[in-house]
Amino acid sequence: MKLYVDFSNLEAAVSKMGSSRVEFVIKQNYVPRDPIDIQLGDGFEVDFADIQFETGLASYEGRQVLLYIKDHHYGNKYEQAIENGKSGNRYHVADCSKLEEMRKKGRLERYVVTNKLDGIFKISRGANEYREAQEGETKLQICQFCLDAINYQGFKNISRGPKRQSFVATFDLTDFFDTYSSFFKFMPSGIADNQTESYSDDWQQVSNKVKEKYLYVCQQCGVDLKSNKRLLQTHHKNGVKADNTDLNLTALCADCHRKQPLHTHMFVPHKDTQLINHLRQEQGLNSKENWRDIYQLADPGIFGVIDMLESYQLPMPEVGLEIVNALHEVVSELELAWPIKKVGVAVDKESRAKS
Ligand SMILES: [Zn+2]
Ligand SMILES: [Zn+2]
Ligand SMILES: [Zn+2]
Repeated sequence: MKLYVDFSNLEAAVSKMGSSRVEFVIKQNYVPRDPIDIQLGDGFEVDFADIQFETGLASYEGRQVLLYIKDHHYGNKYEQAIENGKSGNRYHVADCSKLEEMRKKGRLERYVVTNKLDGIFKISRGANEYREAQEGETKLQICQFCLDAINYQGFKNISRGPKRQSFVATFDLTDFFDTYSSFFKFMPSGIADNQTESYSDDWQQVSNKVKEKYLYVCQQCGVDLKSNKRLLQTHHKNGVKADNTDLNLTALCADCHRKQPLHTHMFVPHKDTQLINHLRQEQGLNSKENWRDIYQLADPGIFGVIDMLESYQLPMPEVGLEIVNALHEVVSELELAWPIKKVGVAVDKESRAKS
């Protein structure tokens, strides 16, 4: 909606008071919310065929989701699951071997898709001749096959048994969704809500000064963002947002910033990560001596893949390689690539197809 308002009287009054116009930026914390985002917060049932696994992760209408079977009718499963979520159905986040097995058996029941991040889910049991229909809530657990499929936080290397169980017990859905957030167009509302932070009132000015002081260069990876200033951010080293002393402030590119400790819930669109990588490459900054450097350069969403490559002792890949056509136009971007071998890893089908 556009508003047409005549501000000439206001401006006249302002100039009478001896003030002049200043430019200002309204900090946007508003995240567009469609009805579907609100519905996904509660969860609703869909046909399995409508859930996409384009990136290997479950998504619905461009939103990252998890899925589970709400109905727990088998034996005492419902009571047991209400009592302890460990006994309930697992929820899935990726295209795992369990889902593949169900697909093969043709046993594709209706799944609830949701992006609720607290791990507490509605489960139910239909009525029969002895009892009424029931519905309750419980804390379900994540499917271990899913964690295996995407090697989340190096899950493949964790030995079976108590170690895996404790990983699953402390698994945090917000961290999980955050890791892959740049692969999806829309942020789950749970993460979007956390974006407002307690900055001081003059933050915008303070922040601009810091960026100027460092000449728009990221103080970690060294990428020069003079031509892409919006990708440079000011970071509080000690984590205290109100502490704007010189020593506590530094300038970081969006990618280095989100990889700082306790900065997990920062949303950096995948396109921005790719652009930063492109600039690093142009500026000769993506040299890497060991696998740690690869993690520094790559999108957190592919850390699981990198971990696997490392354990297979493959040669170190290029990060963010652009595929150029005969007209020297960039047609696609590979996350990781071994140009000599003409092998690469892309995030979505679109990039894969074009490569
Ligand atoms: Zn699964
Ligand atoms: Zn950086
Ligand atoms: Zn920061």
